[in-house]
Amino acid sequence: MKLIEDPLTLSRLLKKARARGQKIALVPTMGALHEGHLSLVNKARSLADILVVSIFVNPAQFGPKEDLKKYPRNLRKDLAALKPFGPLFVFNPRPQDLYKKDHETWVEVEKLSQPLCGKSRPGHFRGVATVVAKLFNIVQPDLAVFGEKDYQQLQIIKKMARDLNFPIEVISCPTVREYDGLALSSRNSYLNKDERRSATILYRTLNQAKELIKKRKDAKKLQGELLDFIHLQEPKAKVEYLELLDPLTLEPKKDLKGKVLAALAVWIGKTRLIDNLTISK
Ligand code: AMP
Repeated sequence: MKLIEDPLTLSRLLKKARARGQKIALVPTMGALHEGHLSLVNKARSLADILVVSIFVNPAQFGPKEDLKKYPRNLRKDLAALKPFGPLFVFNPRPQDLYKKDHETWVEVEKLSQPLCGKSRPGHFRGVATVVAKLFNIVQPDLAVFGEKDYQQLQIIKKMARDLNFPIEVISCPTVREYDGLALSSRNSYLNKDERRSATILYRTLNQAKELIKKRKDAKKLQGELLDFIHLQEPKAKVEYLELLDPLTLEPKKDLKGKVLAALAVWIGKTRLIDNLTISK
């Protein structure tokens, strides 16, 4: 395993691998690695000769009142978790390596960044798209792997790669969950015991959506029923959004025909959790 901070050093090393005809895969992460991240690493490993895992808590995707400072960081533990995957590059740049003081170029996927998390986190997806574009340029991978857990992010990156002609295949992996359905997330570490129990409300609601969708026709009505379900089951949970959308355009569904993306963001105490499920009727 090779730990690299400097973008240029990594680019140079990878240039050699590319010249040898080796296939390169990239897995971007913010560290605090869990089994969800490792499932992406596993997928990438199986598809390429050279594996690059980036660990970078990207300041550009955090709002001024968000958890940038307290976001969990543990590089030593992350390196240990990556060890079983054999030789790989861990790219761990410092913020100043990616954002110079006079940085002023941003990537924005305009329409897809607006709904869902885009509403409450202005600038978040601009930060995500920009850092992923940077990673794509530094690593120039053949493929990059992302999780369906962050569904909107995945769609935005696919669109960005297409719109900006990145010759990179964007591959997705299903959400890895705990035994009780809670999607693994680095932010789960913020939850106390009670909150951890309440946090299953996201998965319970998605399952409820899956059940009810079979019998319902009107999306607005179903949305209302699901909100009632949450209020009844977990009165302390605060729903930021619960939407039934077209999985490709992320536009709200009117009827419930075809595939439906159920997506929600819920505050459990001071922790904001997101989850989603694509449902075919
Ligand atoms: P993050 O470190 O949160 O930026 O996540 C890095 C990558 O891991 C993203 O592509 C996420 O979608 C993915 N990821 C996070 N949690 C999970 C999970 N529970 N299952 C699968 N992928 C995940």
